[in-house]
Amino acid sequence: MTPLYKLNYNNINNYNVFVKRDDLYPISGGGNKGRKLNYILTDCLEKGCNAVVTCGGIQSNHNRATAIRCRELGLECTIIIHSKPSKKFTGNLKILKLLGVRIVYCDLKNISSVMDEEMKKLRLNGFRPYYIWGGGHSNEGTLAYFNAVEELKNQTKINFSAIFVASGTGATQAGLHCGFKYYYPNAKVYGISVAREKEKGIKELKKTIQSFIKQKNLDNSYLKDISFDDRFNCGGYEKTNIEQLNIIKNVAQHFGIILDPTYTSKAWMGMNSFIQKRILPPNSNILFWHTGGLLNLMA
Ligand SMILES: *Cc1c(COP(=O)(O)O)cnc(C)c1O
Repeated sequence: MTPLYKLNYNNINNYNVFVKRDDLYPISGGGNKGRKLNYILTDCLEKGCNAVVTCGGIQSNHNRATAIRCRELGLECTIIIHSKPSKKFTGNLKILKLLGVRIVYCDLKNISSVMDEEMKKLRLNGFRPYYIWGGGHSNEGTLAYFNAVEELKNQTKINFSAIFVASGTGATQAGLHCGFKYYYPNAKVYGISVAREKEKGIKELKKTIQSFIKQKNLDNSYLKDISFDDRFNCGGYEKTNIEQLNIIKNVAQHFGIILDPTYTSKAWMGMNSFIQKRILPPNSNILFWHTGGLLNLMA
């Protein structure tokens, strides 16, 4: 269970602002990818697989979490990185190197054929490989965040009404969206885009939720009230601006909470804008769901 506590936020509109510290999720470097991976690798083990193939960018938190869990569980691990090899071994890449998993570099456009090739190689070598989509995008990943809301429900009696979270592939948001609808029917999850534009983001979220509710036998009402806000993506994935860098500094100095430039500082910027503009009703219990990213800051 990750920590939850109230922040000493500016007293605007009598808001109460809380933080759920999934950046402290128990895996080195923390974050939402660790929570997703626990569900994904349970499925892997249940299917009797003993090797994993996955992919991501050079500073992918998902790659790092996958490699760490594979080492813990004694699974063979192949990580495909869709970029040029780097000589700068910082952040997540430093940890991948340290873990000594197999790393294959390729162009983004060849990613699926390279993944298939690596799956084939493992089979030829007598392994039973398990395929994980980039970012851990899967029903298991969504389920991890649906169940994370149950964890929250068991943790506190506070009735949250607005939840802010960084949204990339959307699996984390989709899980929280369904979980909050299930456990806190009056709450709304605000996904703050770290890259995608609104239209594409909503479309992908709907796909993810559709697939999840089908598997979990939930009705179509879970497809309603999806909020995906692209006003704080700072121009796209891994793009930053001055306002965002100031937020990272201010949040560290006021709260001792470390945000990162790729994901969580954008979510915080979104939440802060809602708070400053008094968009939510007075006395709202607002929750910032911290998804991690420490190693992105250290890259
Ligand atoms: C991957 C990631 C996200 C986005 O999660 P999705 O499920 O892909 O939307 C948010 N924050 C951090 C720190 C991440 O690593």
